[in-house]
Amino acid sequence: MIPESIKTEIETTLDQPVTETTPLHGGDINSAVKVGMESGATYFLKWNKRAAEDMFEAEAKGLQLLASADTELIVPEVLAVGKEHLLLEFIEERNSGASFDFGVQLARLHKSSNELFGLDHSNYIGRLPQSNKYHPDWLEFFMRERLEPQVKMAVDSGKLSKEFTTIFDRVMNYTYVVFPNEPPALLHGDLWGGNYMFTDDGTACIYDPAVYFGHREIDIAMTKLFGGFEPDFYNGYNEEYPLERGWEERIKLCNLYPVLVHANLFGGSYCNQAEALLRQFF
Ligand code: ADP
Repeated sequence: MIPESIKTEIETTLDQPVTETTPLHGGDINSAVKVGMESGATYFLKWNKRAAEDMFEAEAKGLQLLASADTELIVPEVLAVGKEHLLLEFIEERNSGASFDFGVQLARLHKSSNELFGLDHSNYIGRLPQSNKYHPDWLEFFMRERLEPQVKMAVDSGKLSKEFTTIFDRVMNYTYVVFPNEPPALLHGDLWGGNYMFTDDGTACIYDPAVYFGHREIDIAMTKLFGGFEPDFYNGYNEEYPLERGWEERIKLCNLYPVLVHANLFGGSYCNQAEALLRQFF
């Protein structure tokens, strides 16, 4: 079931034949399998024959950046990357784990900082391009690099009414939303429940990132998009790097970005949700 060209590339990279493939579910965008090699070693492979040329390369860079941060989070090692595939260390999943420590470790990730908001390269959220042009100001970054491109994409494809095209012209006078002034934090960038797992010893593993240096409340809000993580996760986070007052009120605004992304990717009720949020905030 792996396309022959990709199978050949893996066999060349690992210098041995693939002997077994087990399909994996859970990804929204790509196909994924556990591959077993002749030696008995196993790897995680995902591929997409229609991926943007640098999509997997950007994901590999993101994983490497997360792995280089000073945390105990597990980040799968990148074995090989091509235009249509990504080969990673295979991580065994366990049903539950140390949520408190996951919170502590994410907070440590967020302590990795940078002078500006953004990143030295653009990447992808799902399969949609994500621009990470540097900005000194968080709100400006969030509006210009996150909300505006997604709203434009949705308007252009008829998923949102044209009236939303101009809302960003008045954004900089927009004082109702004030994010606490905090240093840029290294973010996972797409931290919903499907992008982490607990491993054999209960440690959290994060993957499928859309990294950049942003406001840390973006990652926290994303954990709440589909119901929220265990309460202990937030307890651990707050012990290590307490969130500023009012973070719960900013969740909806933070999550306007993933809701717009979902509207662009999947349409349907996400479009109504995006429109309702845009009306609420602008
Ligand atoms: P997609 O890019 O399509 O969203 P993901 O990277 O989220 O795909 O991977 C799909 C599923 O595969 C995940 O939900 C997870 O269960 C599993 N998975 C991801 N990375 C690994 C890994 N390194 N080892 C084992 N399983 C993994």
